[in-house]
Amino acid sequence: MYARIFAMNTNERKSPFRINRLVEILFFVSAAFLILAVYAFYHPQKPDVVPSGGGETAAPSAEPSPEGTPLPAHLTDPDSIFVFVDKNHPVPQDFVPSDLVSPYFNSTGEIIQLKAEPAEHLKKMIAAASKDKVQLVVFCGYVSYQTQDEYFQDRAAMLGEAEAGKVIEKPGYSEHQCGIAVDFSSNSTSATTVAYADTDAGKWLYEHAHEYGFILRYPKGKEQITGYSYMPWHYRYIGETYASMMYEISPDLSLEEFYDIKK
Ligand SMILES: [Zn+2]
Repeated sequence: MYARIFAMNTNERKSPFRINRLVEILFFVSAAFLILAVYAFYHPQKPDVVPSGGGETAAPSAEPSPEGTPLPAHLTDPDSIFVFVDKNHPVPQDFVPSDLVSPYFNSTGEIIQLKAEPAEHLKKMIAAASKDKVQLVVFCGYVSYQTQDEYFQDRAAMLGEAEAGKVIEKPGYSEHQCGIAVDFSSNSTSATTVAYADTDAGKWLYEHAHEYGFILRYPKGKEQITGYSYMPWHYRYIGETYASMMYEISPDLSLEEFYDIKK
């Protein structure tokens, strides 16, 4: 066999050397493939889930924001339903949404304000829940910078500033100031706890809020990513298209992951 394979060789004495070279080359090629395969396994391509078109209000075209680069303009516009707000991305202190409305909600009796589009979708969501015999009690909508400051100071007085910072946004760092966030409650008189997740309303929201354009903003298990504790009562409007897209990926997908926000 050996002789036949190398019968073409004019110098048979060199054949073993050539086999060794061949084995060597094969070894290095295999090793290179193996390294590439291992690299690909540990560095999978991120899915392209960032909004790239459509939407109820505008046509966003967010690109993943590489570390250190500023966010695309529509994610920093506090008057956009796509705005991204977290502990590193504040809202200007004097910002007030341009289209606040005061729809009547069967909840606190207080005037609750939201931007027009989320308000309209919230009304539809409350009606849909009601058909399923679930009552959604709206506890909070738009909150001005000054009022958020009062809320934060109250909570800080109870918990200390560090702990308060995990369960309530500091003034100037709240989606509530953008008129797109809603807090629900079991009753209209007290702030909600994580037990809300186990109520009929909490379960209904978790399952259906995306159909009306709302997302669970601070999901369970994503505390390190969002910087906040699990808040099953805090939903934020982003429009039906992206809320549903996010829900399909995972009901617990954070906005940070969806927008590919680097810390
Ligand atoms: Zn909230």
